[in-house]
Amino acid sequence: MIASFGVSLRTSTNAGNVGVRVPLIPTYVSAIMLDAMDYVSTADPNAKGTDLATALLAGLAPDGGLYVPRTLPTANLDALRAQTDLPGLATELLAPFCAGSRLEPALPEICREALNLPLPLPELGDSATRLMELFHGPTAAFKDFAARFLAACLAHLRAPGDAVRTVLVATSGDTGGAVAAAFHRRPGFRVVILYPAGRVSKRQAHQLGAFGNNVHAFRVEGDFDDCQRMVKQALNDPDMAEAFHLTSANSISLGRLLPQISYYAWAALQLTGDEPVNVIVPTGNLGNALACILARDMGLPIGEIFLATNANRTLPDYFSGQDYHGRPGLETLANAMDVGDPSNFERLAWFYRDRDLRAAGLHAESVDDEQIRQTIRDGLGRYQRVFCPHTACAVKALERRRASGDRRPFVVVATAHPAKFNEVVEPLIGSIIEPPPALKELLQRPSHAGPLAPTLDALLKVLVDFS
Ligand SMILES: *Cc1c(COP(=O)(O)O)cnc(C)c1O
Repeated sequence: MIASFGVSLRTSTNAGNVGVRVPLIPTYVSAIMLDAMDYVSTADPNAKGTDLATALLAGLAPDGGLYVPRTLPTANLDALRAQTDLPGLATELLAPFCAGSRLEPALPEICREALNLPLPLPELGDSATRLMELFHGPTAAFKDFAARFLAACLAHLRAPGDAVRTVLVATSGDTGGAVAAAFHRRPGFRVVILYPAGRVSKRQAHQLGAFGNNVHAFRVEGDFDDCQRMVKQALNDPDMAEAFHLTSANSISLGRLLPQISYYAWAALQLTGDEPVNVIVPTGNLGNALACILARDMGLPIGEIFLATNANRTLPDYFSGQDYHGRPGLETLANAMDVGDPSNFERLAWFYRDRDLRAAGLHAESVDDEQIRQTIRDGLGRYQRVFCPHTACAVKALERRRASGDRRPFVVVATAHPAKFNEVVEPLIGSIIEPPPALKELLQRPSHAGPLAPTLDALLKVLVDFS
């Protein structure tokens, strides 16, 4: 109670535009509390900010920008090292982000509920390399961590009697499943999933349509960028957003970005010896990789960060010195990364607004389909492992580092279980991959998805039909 009292005083001081903080609060109080965290829009960072709860519920800032914390807190490494599991570490790490919001008191419970997933870090080939397996959640992809966190936050923010909230999600395959699993059967929520027809794997499509209940899947006659545009337009339309109580669960949602920081912190603290660990992240919309970059900026011992993309070269071209040039996404074997204009680039540019992004220890590597195939084929013999096509991009980037004589410690991020992409992987390795139990169970259920034209009007009609 003391904390929220102090926070409200500080907020009113800031709102009055007083340049210097007036010492209304005795210092012994300020020593034990966190400053309220203020979230601003990338489109107008000088405008008045908002708290985490408001930012999460809105999804997108009212001016169409993406929410970012006005300042990035510095992590207390000793306090983090004292934590014995991921939920504990996440509670400590994320507390400053929740300060001053209604979520602050619920954070320990949210982390316990949402982030209590296995996080193995087995060796990969040699003792200097670890694989971070992020695919042990209910839908067998890393997005489970983030989707579960967002769902737990929104559930905590819900008051009895609130109208049903519609979680709108565009997916290139894995997001939709993770968000559906996280909100499935949660009272007060409905999920509307838009995925590009024919552009997700058969198993992904089956999974998206298999939840039923409060989860509705639609196959959009267009590509992922169309799906993403429809979601953005709907959220940006104040009438629609209000009429249907819309909220987003895409990688533009802050509630997905924040929890991802915690597994990078966990890995960095587990693995760092004399030198910081370098990280290779399979990258599409830059949500997962941005969390790694933020972990490093918060002070965690992370060295260089490599973004492994598929044949979509927007980021590799940018980091090799060209201007940023968003373009349509190309279809590849790593379909969850078929992104030509990564939505989180706007956030990354904002965080680096005063620094040179190309001199920040960030690199991007493109891996084409033939190299993805080769890496999956070689995986069994070389590492006794089967990789999903996205993870294979990161493994290939690692192999390039090793071939160039780089012997430093590396973490390679594994973003999905290979059984999710069996159509690609099984012919390459010549054997069947057993799906993990949760995925298997979904695949045995019937599945349904309605067709949808790639227009805002078509989406509006769907939403009206539900109301
Ligand atoms: C979503 C996804 C990615 C890309 O993650 P971003 O946060 O969009 O960069 C990579 N691999 C898999 C398996 C995914 O589902």
